[in-house]
Amino acid sequence: MEQISKPAGLASLVIALDGTAGSGKSSASRDVALRLRLRYLDTGAMYRAMTWHLLTQGVDLDDLDAVASSATEAEIVSGTEALRPTITLGGVDVSVEIRSDETTAAVSQVSAVPRVRQLLTALQRSVIGPGGIVVEGRDIGTVVAPDADLKVYLVADPAARAERRVAELTAAHERDVVSVEADLLRRDAFDSTRAAAPLSAASDAVVLDSTYLSLDEVVDEIVRLALERAQS
Ligand code: C5P
Repeated sequence: MEQISKPAGLASLVIALDGTAGSGKSSASRDVALRLRLRYLDTGAMYRAMTWHLLTQGVDLDDLDAVASSATEAEIVSGTEALRPTITLGGVDVSVEIRSDETTAAVSQVSAVPRVRQLLTALQRSVIGPGGIVVEGRDIGTVVAPDADLKVYLVADPAARAERRVAELTAAHERDVVSVEADLLRRDAFDSTRAAAPLSAASDAVVLDSTYLSLDEVVDEIVRLALERAQS
C-alpha cells in the first residue's frame, strides 16, 4: 500500500471514526492509519475484552454492582500499531476470544453499563494522548474525543453490512446472511438507544455511506479529508 509522507499537522491529528456494526469501520480505520502512518485504536476490542473478562469471571451481567466492581479489576492493554494491533487482558492475548459468538452476544449489554464506559473512556483518552491516531468506535466523536480534528461517521445498508461480515467469517464460523443481518440490527438498536453514550453521529461529523463504495474509495476519501484538516 502506498504511504504518504507526513505533513507536520499529522503528528498530532486525531481522527474519530464512528459507525454502525459492520459498516467497514475497522478495515477503513486501519488502512487510513497505515496510509498516513498514524497509530490505530480499536475501542470496540476494548469493550469486547471487558466483556470477555466478565464472562470468564462468571459475573452476572444483570447485576450492575457486580459488573462495576469486577470491571475495575480488568487489565486491558491495546497495542496501537496499525499493521498488528494487539489486545491483552491481564497480559494474555485475547484477540481470538473477543471475537467469539459468546462475547459478541453479550458486548452491547456490558457496553451500556456507565461504570464500564467511564473506565474505558479514561483508558482510551490516555492512549490517544498527544494524538497521531485513528480511533474507531461508537462514541469517539461525541464523547471520547469531542475535539477530534476529523470526525467521520460511517454508515451502510444493513444487507451490504451483513454480506461483508459473512465474507469475513472463517469456515469455522459460517453463518447465513439473514441471521448475521439480524444480529447487526439488534446490536445497532441496543447501542443507539442506551442512556450512556449512545451510538450517534456528532453534529460536526462527515457522514460517509459506504454501501456502494469499495474499501479503497472510503479510505481515499478519509485520507483526503485528513490531509485537508492537517494542513489547515
Ligand atoms: O466495533 P465492534 O463491533 O467490535 O464493537 C463491539 C461493541 O462494543 C459494540 O456493539 C458496542 O456495544 C460496543 N462499543 C461501544 N463504544 C465504542 C466501541 C464499541 O459501546 N466506542
